Amino acid sequence: AKARGRNCLQFFNQQIQKDAERNAELHLYLKTALAQHEFELYYQPIVNPFTSQIIKAEVLLRWIHDGKFISPDEFIPIAEESGLIVQIGEWVRTQALTSILALQQRQLAIPLSINVSTIEFWTADLQQRFLAYFDAIQKQFGLDDFPYSLITLEITESLMMKQQKSINLLLTELRHRGMKISVDDFGTGYSSLSYLVNFPVDQIKIDKSFIQKITSGSRHKALIEAIVSMSRALDLSIVAEGVETQEELEFIKQQDIQAVQGYHFYRPMPQEAFFDLLAKQAQS
Ligand code: C2E
Ligand code: CA
Ligand code: CA
Ligand code: CA
Repeated sequence: AKARGRNCLQFFNQQIQKDAERNAELHLYLKTALAQHEFELYYQPIVNPFTSQIIKAEVLLRWIHDGKFISPDEFIPIAEESGLIVQIGEWVRTQALTSILALQQRQLAIPLSINVSTIEFWTADLQQRFLAYFDAIQKQFGLDDFPYSLITLEITESLMMKQQKSINLLLTELRHRGMKISVDDFGTGYSSLSYLVNFPVDQIKIDKSFIQKITSGSRHKALIEAIVSMSRALDLSIVAEGVETQEELEFIKQQDIQAVQGYHFYRPMPQEAFFDLLAKQAQS
């Protein structure tokens, strides 16, 4: 048994070593990924579950390195650790804004949700940079009528936990400009209702881990019902994420949730396919 224990430990050590090597390697390539144009935005439509109409979409970052897709779940944490996430985040926002303008020209514009890393709000300097970015891009695009109202920023609960006055002020300013603030992955962190009451937010996204448990029983359903009624009491809009099956959809509709994202309707897709889809919807 001792020998087996030792083998096991050796195995884990090897695995940790391998992971560390992989991370170091990804970090190295991530540094040049922006300059090498290895990033691409995908778009996942969010639909009205009663009509199947596309009402908005989430932009999701893709990294294509050496012809292979590397999952954001793998590279975002590395980008966060190294601080590269700040430049990457700005690139994502510029791409998303460019898309919004292109869609506006075709009268196809819908709101786009953009993920924001907690790291981007970490220090006072970064918070300032976050706002300054929008001032700069507004000037760069030369628009008086900047489409702030078509931007939703998705933040996570860990940000709310910081309970920093400056974060509160920043979110208030972003909303003042017309952007919406959405709380992503709601219910997965150390969330508490008091954060929601005290934070200037517009929307919550029910995490897909909850949706996927709908089929496994009434207690999970009760949890979603509680989240829904609490959101309504606080006047927050709701998006259900990760809806894959008819059964999940039916339950979401019973809750009268008006916005759904998930493979049941659409997977994330490249920009061209997304634009085509919106054009087709406008024609019908
Ligand atoms: P997220 O923000 O929670 O995004 C939703 C994830 O769920 C996406 O994974 C999406 O493809 C996936 N998804 C949507 N519908 C379904 C479904 O029905 N079933 C299942 N199983 N999955 C579904 P993705 O694109 O791999 O992104 C993973 C995470 O990476 C995101 O989770 C987000 O935290 C992060 N991320 C992606 N793009 C960005 C970005 O531009 N900036 C930042 N900071 N983070 C990003
Ligand atoms: Ca998200
Ligand atoms: Ca989410
Ligand atoms: Ca997530």
